[in-house]
Amino acid sequence: MLYSTMHRVLTATIIISNCNRMMAIYYRVILLLIVSSRTNGSCNFTVSVPTNAKPGTDVVSVQSLMRMEKEELPCVIVEGDLYGRFTVSTNCTIVVARPLDSSVQSKYLLKIRVRRLQNPGDLVVRLKVNVTNVLGYPPVYNETCKTPVRHSVEGTSEFLFSGTLTAEFETTSGDVMFLKETLNKPREVWDMDSRKLSIITGNTCQFSAVFGVRGLNDVMVAAELFQSHHVNFTLKVFCQAESGQMPKVSVQLFSTQSKLKSDLHPLEQVVPNVMAKLQHPPLVYLFSVAYPTKSPTRYNCKFPSLQRPIMLSTDIDTVRVKHVQRITLDVNPVGCAPGKYGLLCDKTCICENSARCHGFNGACKCTDGWQGVACDIPKPGVSVTTTPSDPSDIFISANIIIHCQVHHLDVNTLSLRLPNESVIVSYGANRLDKTLFNIQSKDSGPYVCQVRDTRRNTFKTTIVLDIANCPPNKKGQLCDERCDCSGFARCDRWVGCVCPPGRTGTRCETTCPDGTYGKDCGKACSCQHGAICSNSDGTCTCTAGWYGSDCNVRCPKYRYGLRCQQACTCKNDAVCDNVDGSCACVAPWTGKDCDEKQPTRSEPLVESLVPVGCLIVLVVFIATILYKKNFVCRLAHRIDGETEVVLEIEQVEADLAQTVRPGWLSRWETTSRHLTLGHLIGLGVFGHVIQGTLQTSDGEIGVAAKSVRRKDTQCYRNFYREAAILVAVHEDQHHDNFRSNIIRLLGLINESSHKYILLEYASKGNLLRLMRREKRRDGAQSFLQCLRYAVHIARALQELQRLAITHCDVAARNVLITADDVAKLADFGLARDVYATVQYVADDGNGKEELAKNLESEVFPLNWMSLESLETGQYTCQSDVWSFGVLLWEISTLGQEPRYDGNNRPSCLRLARTLRRGIRLRRPPECSGEMYDVMSSCWQENPSARPGADVVEKRLLQLNLAFEMETAV
Ligand code: AMP
Repeated sequence: MLYSTMHRVLTATIIISNCNRMMAIYYRVILLLIVSSRTNGSCNFTVSVPTNAKPGTDVVSVQSLMRMEKEELPCVIVEGDLYGRFTVSTNCTIVVARPLDSSVQSKYLLKIRVRRLQNPGDLVVRLKVNVTNVLGYPPVYNETCKTPVRHSVEGTSEFLFSGTLTAEFETTSGDVMFLKETLNKPREVWDMDSRKLSIITGNTCQFSAVFGVRGLNDVMVAAELFQSHHVNFTLKVFCQAESGQMPKVSVQLFSTQSKLKSDLHPLEQVVPNVMAKLQHPPLVYLFSVAYPTKSPTRYNCKFPSLQRPIMLSTDIDTVRVKHVQRITLDVNPVGCAPGKYGLLCDKTCICENSARCHGFNGACKCTDGWQGVACDIPKPGVSVTTTPSDPSDIFISANIIIHCQVHHLDVNTLSLRLPNESVIVSYGANRLDKTLFNIQSKDSGPYVCQVRDTRRNTFKTTIVLDIANCPPNKKGQLCDERCDCSGFARCDRWVGCVCPPGRTGTRCETTCPDGTYGKDCGKACSCQHGAICSNSDGTCTCTAGWYGSDCNVRCPKYRYGLRCQQACTCKNDAVCDNVDGSCACVAPWTGKDCDEKQPTRSEPLVESLVPVGCLIVLVVFIATILYKKNFVCRLAHRIDGETEVVLEIEQVEADLAQTVRPGWLSRWETTSRHLTLGHLIGLGVFGHVIQGTLQTSDGEIGVAAKSVRRKDTQCYRNFYREAAILVAVHEDQHHDNFRSNIIRLLGLINESSHKYILLEYASKGNLLRLMRREKRRDGAQSFLQCLRYAVHIARALQELQRLAITHCDVAARNVLITADDVAKLADFGLARDVYATVQYVADDGNGKEELAKNLESEVFPLNWMSLESLETGQYTCQSDVWSFGVLLWEISTLGQEPRYDGNNRPSCLRLARTLRRGIRLRRPPECSGEMYDVMSSCWQENPSARPGADVVEKRLLQLNLAFEMETAV
């Protein structure tokens, strides 16, 4: 509003009439300019200036008005500016010298004496200056939200408010975390400065701040918030004061990528041209705060539920938040240092003559005798005050002093009239003090100070005293009874003790009964499960096993104890007690942690009681039944025809002994009768993949059924290895099917003629094919989407790292894309756990050649492999990071095949030598420097110097944003 007014003002036409000669249009003036004609050897002009014109602003150049451009006109204001609002600069330009205030003086009649050097004699110019109103100016000093003045101590915060944010949330790893962040650090720590923050403060105890998000962590959190909500351009969090009154905080997050102007409209309304002002940040927060109070306030915030976890960096760790249980914000107005105001205490007050400066908007509250926006214009008159000054400290039987003080007048007489009509008079003095001893109710009424100055002008001011309170701790008609309230209760003359929230009783001696809190214990606590309820504000302190604002949320499955801080140790599907962590075992497991096996009851019976003959009969009986049901047939076949298979399974189990629990195959086994096969959708090195449908108890679902390509050792080994690794991933207690970026396992079929790994069907196929297809369309958009996929795969690698599993074949061809555009890591045929330090050959003298021969078979993706994998056959999570770097290279080229020095199929030894010489995949022409930096960091020779998958994820998120911004511009 203000800006548009100014704009109109600046573009207004300047109308000039004649005074001797034509006047020039002087564009530096601020407002409408009217010039009248010459009278009696002097020129009369009228100009206007807005009331909010800052000191230093040019009003008009008299020299230009007179069209005397060549002459230097010395001139001086000789009349009409009693309080020095204007001054004269070069070219006889009239300049605002001190703040104007149209409510104090809206017209000035300046008499300016102009000395003409060439012509003898001075010229008098009369300039009428109209001070025009500007909406919302001067700012109003609103007592409702006045803030204290802080006597600043070095190193303390520089905010008008101090605040504490407390959050409680669950992480994807099943932890419950508590976060407390206090706004008491210097501003730089918060990465806040005026360039990044635009603040609008109103007169009504409200302010809005627009804050461009730039810091890496903030950008990432904000970006993830967007992703987790599937929202396009805004996200809102509302906080309501606990008292349920007016105070409100709302935080809105805007993505500036929107091309629709209306999406950013709320921002523009607060700060016009905000994007340019904040230098086009990718994301913008808009805080709107209504704070019509002087007291500390607690806000409870409503955080929208997360559809995907978000990453949050705390001082200690980076965690993935899946649910925000509660957020509270405690705000306390602490004020700025003397002479400063604004949310960041970065604005300088203009108030003079001991005036108070309002913390919100810098409005001045003048002391007696002063007026104007800066309280620098004398206000002739008389003021009346008392000691003590606070009316609540004036009570029956006290002694008080009434002061009459004259300001900016030459006093003739000064008098004070008391309510009983008696008058005290002094002559010539500009101050009169009257002490009243042992005041009583009868002394209540008006006290009038009156002054008569030497020019016979009269000024008077009245104060009305209501002397009705008893002295401290006294009550009753005669103020002769004692209150003796306990705690912070107040003693009222008629009511007695007035209790603070949380206290009750005639003397406020008792705390609120259990289950109640607040003023007069009138509110019911909502705390559950034995939580302690704060008597004053109803805050719940949860007992062990529970959390949440009402303590009604049970600790997550694997957590127990106070604030859910203890990790459960129960094994084998046992249920962990949320309070004390004790384990309820599932048969046949027993023991404290349910990790000891209990002999089944029938075993000793069979051993001791059943004679051997009976046992044989029993076996024959069972065998007959099984035979009839076709089971023995399968078993027999397995033993005869699938010795190799069984051996492979044993081998895989031995390799992955640390990773998979025995019985893994049977736990996931289903029958081929439930599977209907469709068409072939993919051919891998070891297997083929067929689309199909699987009948489950929940109905039919689409699956991808992966089988062996050939019935040979290598294929079986890869098949079972993949199956076992996927089982290990899916049986991990922290695995979450809906959030994981690893392809979902739905079941295993392990029949002699049908062997399938049943996987969720990823309808968009593998990433390599997708990229090559998309390349022909919008390259930039495809790249952006692929960057998001890369972030997903970085997350998959983090999951594998947690499980100590290495994938060993991270590449675009092994990334599958689901219908809702989530990338999932697949093809675990080469995966292994890090405990199996498998070397393909012994590292003896001929080892390297042997290894190289193995690697050069079609099986091994040499160009994706790390240096150490090529040289020693060793795979680690860091070697997966190397391959991930190559995957990024594939993304940068939208699906080209990586080649070193243009050589498509180098020999293993040669490639290792190339890499040792420091040669790496070249930067693709279309790849940015930052992106190439990320991939290059994955190819460091020393595995431990490579970034972790989590670090890569962060950097990709950052790149993603930067790229989004670029493409949006
Ligand atoms: P793989 O042997 O796992 O690399 O699979 C070979 C090809 O089959 C992949 O490149 C995909 O094109 C396809 N494929 C594998 N698994 C799936 C799946 N779960 N959903 C859709 N297509 C798949």
